Amino acid sequence: MEAKKIRSTFIEFFQSKQHHYVPSSPIVVKNDPTLMFTNAGMNQFKDAFLGNEIAKYPRVANSQKCLRVSGKHNDLEEVGVDTYHHTMFEMLGNWSFGDYFKKEAIEWAWELLTEVYKLPKDRLYVSVFQGDAGDNLAKDQEAFDLWKAIVPEDRIIMGSKKDNFWEMGDTGPCGPCSEIHIDLRTEKERAEVPGKDLVNNDHPQVIEIWNLVFMQFNRLADGSLKELPAKHVDTGMGFERLVRAIQMKSSNYDTDLFGPFIQALEKKSGKSYGKDEQTDIAFRVIVDHIRAISFTIADGQIPSNNKAGYVIRRILRRAVRYGYTFLGFQQPFLYELTPLIAEYFGDIFPEVRAQQEFIARVIQEEETSFLRTLDHGLKMLEGIKAELNEKGEKVIAGKTAFELYDTYGFPLDLTSLIARENGFSVDEKGFAEEMEKQKTRSRAASESETGDWVFVHEDTGVEFIGYDFTETYSHILKYRTI
Ligand code: ATP
Ligand code: MG
Ligand code: MG
Ligand code: MG
Repeated sequence: MEAKKIRSTFIEFFQSKQHHYVPSSPIVVKNDPTLMFTNAGMNQFKDAFLGNEIAKYPRVANSQKCLRVSGKHNDLEEVGVDTYHHTMFEMLGNWSFGDYFKKEAIEWAWELLTEVYKLPKDRLYVSVFQGDAGDNLAKDQEAFDLWKAIVPEDRIIMGSKKDNFWEMGDTGPCGPCSEIHIDLRTEKERAEVPGKDLVNNDHPQVIEIWNLVFMQFNRLADGSLKELPAKHVDTGMGFERLVRAIQMKSSNYDTDLFGPFIQALEKKSGKSYGKDEQTDIAFRVIVDHIRAISFTIADGQIPSNNKAGYVIRRILRRAVRYGYTFLGFQQPFLYELTPLIAEYFGDIFPEVRAQQEFIARVIQEEETSFLRTLDHGLKMLEGIKAELNEKGEKVIAGKTAFELYDTYGFPLDLTSLIARENGFSVDEKGFAEEMEKQKTRSRAASESETGDWVFVHEDTGVEFIGYDFTETYSHILKYRTI
């Protein structure tokens, strides 16, 4: 089954169970001080769960664009190194707002996976919250009994609070969850070690696919729990992982979601995927990152030196450097992958098709500007490595990392990554101190400038929608279609 069909089947399945389909909310979150990017399907329903708003529909399903590169969920360091954590991914979800609860959620999840998608039952494991005496929380007996009616007891795993209890924050709705994991190892490997022992153990072939959260309590400020008057269901399934399981691949990157992108890169670079681990990581990082970058730009977040904009710039520069060092790209290349994004995602996420030209231009400019200094920065790093080797030292000074940042545009995480690849580390505290010093210097400078001649208002003819944006991208603003 192709990825597109797998996605539409999910939606249609829940529509047949009276769910209302809602489109994905933007990946970029505005006006929420607690969140920069959408990191789960439930984000857009937060107010319904908190009771601030009455849900429009009691049953909802969707495919949500998510980004996990900052805050509570930061998977960036895993991406490309493993084959199942992405920066940007789609989370398929179904919700009940005070409507159905555990029974339906569990039975439908099982029906969809085993009867519709036909995943082999003997490869699936489910987990149930085991309880937590310290927090006065009981085992989720209800979920356990429901699962026991469907799967043999030895496929049920009891899980700790870390994996099987969900909380929105220190206070608010919370509850136990049940997860579904799949064992994608070979028959031989499965005969040697039981899959049950590998669930939640970072095994690359025994992976979590679906999380069913049962919101049944409200955590009060004094830490106590109160039963919620209306109980809710919030589920999230990684689409790329589901596709991999259905297509029986050993990596998300071997599915038809990433295949066309890998092939395009192979053609462009003249290198093959699947021959050398370091080159493969570069392939995976690039085909992952181009999605994150394109989707966020389509939703209005332009790379910049601030907050969310800097997150995107860091991802982009990381991809550029992987391409430069391991695939031999000395000229901008990322932007040429954007037509594929439009082609493969334009039907479900029309914004990436509508903004295709704009996305490509922003990326191309970013690449061009970073490539201008990348080579110098890498040479400087080579020199530093040689120096440290001579002295028998292993730590790159904060001041040096700051110079790389300030003069050559190397985000700290990029310098740390290159350092790690070579057996070094970076003095991140020292870097932060240098950054602070620079901020103090520029504050002092701008204070002394206020008495001078300044243009307070210059009529540039473009609508002001953020400093970095107009400053850097005003000339391509016309390509933005909405
Ligand atoms: P993991 O333990 O693998 O990091 P998680 O427990 O952090 O996953 P949840 O917060 O439960 O993930 O999210 C629901 C589902 O989203 C997961 O079951 C998984 O299929 C998928 N998922 C989570 N993080 C990622 C990611 N970085 N890339 C792709 N899919 C992901
Ligand atoms: Mg995680
Ligand atoms: Mg997990
Ligand atoms: Mg989980």
